[in-house]
Amino acid sequence: MKGTVHYDQRGEVALLSIDNPPVNPLSSGVRQGLYDGVSRAIGDDSISAIVVTGMHRAFIAGADISEFGASAREGAGLHEVLKIMESSTKPIIAAINGTAFGGGLEVALCCDYRIAAATAPVGLPEVKLGLLPGAGGTQRLPRLTGVETALQTIISGNPMAAPDALAMGIVDRIATGDILEDGISMAREIVAAGSATRKIRDLDEKIVADRGNTALFEKFEANLNKTHRGQFAPTQILKCVEVAVNTDDFDAGLAREAELFAECMAHPQREALIHVFFAERAAGKILDLPKDLPLLKIERGSVVGAGTMGGGIAMCFANAGMPVRVYDKDAENLARGIKVIAGNYARTVSRGRLSQDEMDKRMALIIPTENFDDLNDGDVVIEAVYENLDLKKEIFGRLDKIMKAGALLASNTSGLDLDAIAAATSRPEQVCGMHFFSPANVMRLLEVVRGEGSSPATLATAMSLGKRLGKVSVMAGNCPGFIGNRMLGGYTRQASMMILEGATPAQVDKVIYDFGLAMGPFAMNDMVGLDLGWRARKMVGGSNQVTVRIPDELCELGRYGQKNGKGYYRYEEGSRVPLPDPEADAVIARVAGELGYQQRDFSDAEILKRCIYPLVNIGAKLLEEGHALRAGDIDTVYVNGYGFPAYVGGPMWYADTQGLDNVLADMEGFYKETGDEVWKPSALLLKLVKEGRNFASLDAATNATN
Ligand code: NAD
Repeated sequence: MKGTVHYDQRGEVALLSIDNPPVNPLSSGVRQGLYDGVSRAIGDDSISAIVVTGMHRAFIAGADISEFGASAREGAGLHEVLKIMESSTKPIIAAINGTAFGGGLEVALCCDYRIAAATAPVGLPEVKLGLLPGAGGTQRLPRLTGVETALQTIISGNPMAAPDALAMGIVDRIATGDILEDGISMAREIVAAGSATRKIRDLDEKIVADRGNTALFEKFEANLNKTHRGQFAPTQILKCVEVAVNTDDFDAGLAREAELFAECMAHPQREALIHVFFAERAAGKILDLPKDLPLLKIERGSVVGAGTMGGGIAMCFANAGMPVRVYDKDAENLARGIKVIAGNYARTVSRGRLSQDEMDKRMALIIPTENFDDLNDGDVVIEAVYENLDLKKEIFGRLDKIMKAGALLASNTSGLDLDAIAAATSRPEQVCGMHFFSPANVMRLLEVVRGEGSSPATLATAMSLGKRLGKVSVMAGNCPGFIGNRMLGGYTRQASMMILEGATPAQVDKVIYDFGLAMGPFAMNDMVGLDLGWRARKMVGGSNQVTVRIPDELCELGRYGQKNGKGYYRYEEGSRVPLPDPEADAVIARVAGELGYQQRDFSDAEILKRCIYPLVNIGAKLLEEGHALRAGDIDTVYVNGYGFPAYVGGPMWYADTQGLDNVLADMEGFYKETGDEVWKPSALLLKLVKEGRNFASLDAATNATN
């Protein structure tokens, strides 16, 4: 059995210490140890109270996810443990020394009292894995906090600091000294005062007021459509809490929670979300980099370019407490960039999510400069100037001359040839790509681009810096567009082809929105501005791609997108809601006619395949070429950088769920019909289908080599 619980006696207090390093998940040995320890203490007349605490850095970090899917479980079941704890006539005190998440917090909720270290985070994050707190959490939390707070806590799944948990009534006390000693003192106090127990199941004063309050639940349900659209677990949580509030029978509530939990366990979203969870962790491991590689010491950053990306990247450094210089060759742009940063922070302050003091500290870490040479005190420099290879080469040539020996030189290019950029320096081994996503201070994804010459230390440092900056780092090979943008090209091109062939922008966008992305490709283009691409094409004498004919003609008519109220759609004054526009539709029909496309009807299913399967095929090519290391890395890129719904697991996982043989058959059909190269099945896809395998099995084999 995995993990154990130590039993000690401190006078009349039994002390149960959970020992399952590093974070004490509820593995078999922990459950059995808690069961045995509590039974022993209850049966020992010399014991009057029980304190449960965790060794190492956590109280209990949650369930042992590695046991999910196991057919037979060892050790006592969690429900048995909770039952014996909750029926104890001797008071049990949870001394929450560190993280108490999920099942860990649910164990604490079966104790009579809770004392927490001020630094201990607590929460019920199950929803993030497509689950609900299935060990009584949905029934007990509302009884402590009231319904609204409980719903917000369980549906968000976000952790909270112990002092906030105190304010919400989840813990009774914050330790002022050593958590263990304070927990034991608290137990003695309770014994001295008569050993009262306090079972959460018997409390109802916080919930009776909302009994029968259907409006409250309707409000939450309506809100879920905005915050958790398409997700299964949050609606199940709502049902659980509704039962907790509306029934007197606590055990009936637990039974309903168990049913709804089982439905979550069986739901495909659960598997997809767990895949995303593990894929993000796996992405950080680069198989051919030695694990104990010494990293470069990064204490200060430098950023070239104070535009959209440079400003956001500078904020990432400041948010991580690292000083950062920001240089722009254009004084006006530099001033504007710093003003945008200050405005972003000020908005966060006005929303109460950052103190003014903290904002001031972060702003003080961001040091603007108009002198290029000042960049040289950075241990890392990230270039974020215009997307122009010659310009980037020039900048890297200059950086090479001023940056200290050993500094990491990174480019934020969206897809230019990193090796060409590195070749402009005398130290290509210190160059790599660090491709942030917009807005850089918000988006979690970072593609670390591996150049031909990038040294292992450079790559490992960039990956680890990403982590310090709060990002999920994924390694990508140096190919046009790297992972994310290279794949996106196939998606947007197919969307553009379909409107030439007879689908409407609104139809395509609706299919993508219903699939779970925040918006479809045409609404997205309108938001970004159609004129950006149009102007760029004009500068190089235009493009003969059929897919740009429509946006070019829309721009010729002054339809730039949201910015001037008309693009593929029209927008009412001050509104961002896209409305179909006959004028744009007429442009589309005319261009399609001129190019000789037959108009036909599209089913939603076909639209979805035409948009998503190019991602899959290009993703498979990236794997085949070694430009992406795992299918899970590609999924991590799409979920964290492109708003792909995590609950379908990312494009590669989604393809697995559709059956790769079906996906391949559809691609072959599209290839025959359109002759478009994007549909030429990748060799890897053909091989996997032939062998009856999928992308997940490929990743399992890759990860097993480590
Ligand atoms: P931007 O136009 O907002 O900002 C570019 C800044 O670079 C401007 O302030 C400009 O004055 C400055 N600049 C130009 N030449 C310079 C020079 N020689 N020295 C110093 N500064 C100079 O551009 P952006 O959107 O921030 O994009 C920057 C880079 O990031 C590009 O390579 C782009 O492809 C990449 N990128 C952009 C996004 C995005 O969504 N905007 C996302 C990922 C990556």
